[in-house]
Amino acid sequence: SRPVKLSLRLHPYGEGRLLILSRDVTSVEQAETMRRDFVANVSHEIRTPLTVLAGFVETLQNLDLPREERNRYLGMMGVQAQRMQTLVSDLLTLSRLEGSPLPDATEWTPAAAFLTQCQQESAALVQALGKKMELRFGEAPALALGGAASELQSAFSNLVSNAVRYTPSGGVVDVQAREAAGGRFELAVRDTGPGIAAEHLPRVTERFYRVDRSRSRETGGTGLGLAIVKHVVQRHGGELKIASTLGKGSTFTILLPATRVRPLPLKPSESAA
Ligand code: ADP
Repeated sequence: SRPVKLSLRLHPYGEGRLLILSRDVTSVEQAETMRRDFVANVSHEIRTPLTVLAGFVETLQNLDLPREERNRYLGMMGVQAQRMQTLVSDLLTLSRLEGSPLPDATEWTPAAAFLTQCQQESAALVQALGKKMELRFGEAPALALGGAASELQSAFSNLVSNAVRYTPSGGVVDVQAREAAGGRFELAVRDTGPGIAAEHLPRVTERFYRVDRSRSRETGGTGLGLAIVKHVVQRHGGELKIASTLGKGSTFTILLPATRVRPLPLKPSESAA
């Protein structure tokens, strides 16, 4: 049983009688608290890089700084500016997802296209982070996914990028897609990273919720990735499941409605006709 907040109004009602009007305002208050928390979080996330930037600007005003030192500061300023760009772009994505319905005209995209993109991006990310880890990608099932391809791609890429970012060198990131029960498409992203404790699991898809703030910052996270994934998956009629064991690793699974496709072999003689 959850606590309920009631708003009560008393009205005199005829001779010696009282009318009591009660309204459950629990959800109104919750929405207001969430909105306030969100604004506070956004402000904090923007203020941190801004403070760093302002500090460097002040330092750079000292004209006697050796060139090398100046370049080092400029580099660090670039990192902070990049962080703010990513944050603003994630915020815009989230607000677009929350505000607009999914476009009606269904665009179908083969599962293989999404997986190829994930594979390329993860290989590039591993290299950019200077990590040594094994990336395993299974075959794509003969399915096509309906909906906004760019949104679906960003959901899949987010899970794979999290797996790569949170898994230390020497680990494994394993991405398997298959046709699940009911003809649905299933994508499972498994990693041998730090895992997530049971008490945090239900909250990791909340906006700005991070298990370890400093680790998330180090890995360049905005804390909005999984919130975006959850929204995209839900508005495509699918679900996101998370299983994790602390110290062992995590598996993020996306299930989505799909349709079977039959790739046609193209024989040169026939295609020319
Ligand atoms: P972030 O930008 O911080 O990565 P996300 O919304 O993508 O934000 O994830 C929220 C939090 O969930 C992360 O800060 C991290 O604590 C946890 N998390 C996400 N993916 C993983 C993973 N593969 N392994 C361990 N922890 C993860």
